[in-house]
Amino acid sequence: MSRTAVVLTALTLILAVFLPGTMLLVTAEPTVHRVPNSKAISQNFITNTNSGSFSSNGGVGRGFSTRIALINFDDGYKSQFTNAKPVLDKYGFKATFFIVCNFVGKSAKQMNSTSIVNFAGKGVEQMTWTDVLALYKQGEMIGSHTMNHLRNMTNMSDSELNYEIGGSKQCLVNHGIPTTTFAYPFENGKDNVTVVKKVSQDYTYARSGNYPLMFLSCDHFSKKYSRQADCRTYLPSGKISYANRYSIVGWSHDYDRIAYFYNDKQMLNRFIQVVSGQDKYNRPGQSLDAIPIIVYHRIDNSGAQYSTTVSFFAEEMKYLHDNGFKVINMAALVYNNVTNSLNFKNS
Ligand SMILES: [Zn+2]
Repeated sequence: MSRTAVVLTALTLILAVFLPGTMLLVTAEPTVHRVPNSKAISQNFITNTNSGSFSSNGGVGRGFSTRIALINFDDGYKSQFTNAKPVLDKYGFKATFFIVCNFVGKSAKQMNSTSIVNFAGKGVEQMTWTDVLALYKQGEMIGSHTMNHLRNMTNMSDSELNYEIGGSKQCLVNHGIPTTTFAYPFENGKDNVTVVKKVSQDYTYARSGNYPLMFLSCDHFSKKYSRQADCRTYLPSGKISYANRYSIVGWSHDYDRIAYFYNDKQMLNRFIQVVSGQDKYNRPGQSLDAIPIIVYHRIDNSGAQYSTTVSFFAEEMKYLHDNGFKVINMAALVYNNVTNSLNFKNS
């Protein structure tokens, strides 16, 4: 990165942290753009860092008897296959990988083409279809992250939306990979009635960001974002609710590290706070409401903004394993139309 770029990035991040209110982060970023202000973040900071674990003798659904976590990878980077997958396998963890269909198989050079959107994955090698298919066959979930990872879904024509949303599902199917789950590039469109309607026609669930915990009853988010009592998609006003089955809220691991300049030690503390945050809301064996959905991007030693080093990723996965967390695949999600809440099916 050039010196000018470093200075600009630093200035942007300083603005992102200190300007009041929710603001748009200007740097290219693949998953989440909106960050709560520092006050909101501190309110969301979870103080219970007890690293002990509950008994993990199985059980899912409302009576889940242990702490749980979900792991997501966005944008289809090759490093997710070469570096993250072996760590997941070591612990038997299953994750969800959100793939951009037209990017699959592209080399770093091809990803640098002018036809590729300007985002954090520009110039970064992608997985091949062989890689993606191998993940799928080994029990990982594959989700759609559109055809081209464009920024402006809220301004697209009907046919463009059909291509990016429905077309990307068909693209996966054409490669032997059925999916029910979608993720919004740049979070764009998650609160737009037209976009959400399209997403709901082709998918059962969709993921957005950015909050440390997802609440299965969509009921405990900061009042600044949501005053929902359940996960109904539409508010009485006709607008889209903050969290619902088409806006399942993930936590961008990389975004927090960038926004708060965390070193690895600070980031690990933050990680532990986030994944342990469920203790405040869940009663093991009785009720489950809060789950962290951890969103990663690159897992490599590039030092890029949206990259987690291989050793640090391994340290975080080890933490989950050693502390009795059960890592659940998003494929286990179910929606209850009567209570308007999410849950996990028995596995
Ligand atoms: Zn993305």
